[in-house]
Amino acid sequence: MEYKIVVLGGGGVGKSALCIQYIMKKFIEEYEPTQADQYRMQTTVDGESCYLEILDTAGQEDFGAIQDQYVEKGDGFLLVFAVDSEPSFKDIQQLHDRIMTVKEQSHFPILICANKDDLDTSQHIISKQQVADLCSKWNCQSKETSAKTRQNVDESFQEIVREIRRQAAPAQD
Ligand code: GDP
Ligand code: MG
Repeated sequence: MEYKIVVLGGGGVGKSALCIQYIMKKFIEEYEPTQADQYRMQTTVDGESCYLEILDTAGQEDFGAIQDQYVEKGDGFLLVFAVDSEPSFKDIQQLHDRIMTVKEQSHFPILICANKDDLDTSQHIISKQQVADLCSKWNCQSKETSAKTRQNVDESFQEIVREIRRQAAPAQD
């Protein structure tokens, strides 16, 4: 099985840092806002081997045609915001709406990454409650991640794979 995971979110929230931490197990300090990358890797989730194609996106200043191309490709999405940025929290709400419109669905595999959780709590602007409210509204999960400390990095990618598998499985009654 191959799953296409698209990492979406505002500029500077840590999309590239999360991808690089997951794939290469290192933290990047430098910031290249225009850089988009694609990675392919093999992994095992819940004992089942799969290929992941991970698309690290850029160009979020324009929620236009570029985003739609990314969205069309995705089997599942990591929606990343930074806990110290109110605008980035708004961005994921806009992106969520765009995903549902492009996919013509009311539910699709997504996971919210509340990134930069390592920052001092005094810098946390978005509360856990605000994230929990979005999760119940969208019927999705979230993870408090840090690309810096590697907290919940593997878990986020594993969980989106599970979510894609669940969505693909025939409905149970
Ligand atoms: P992108 O535009 O979403 O791809 O953002 P980047 O991955 O390039 O990260 C933007 C900046 O935030 C860089 O300077 C990173 O080092 C920093 N950064 C990314 N993730 C984290 C994190 O989890 N914690 C902290 N403290 N900094 C982070
Ligand atoms: Mg980037």
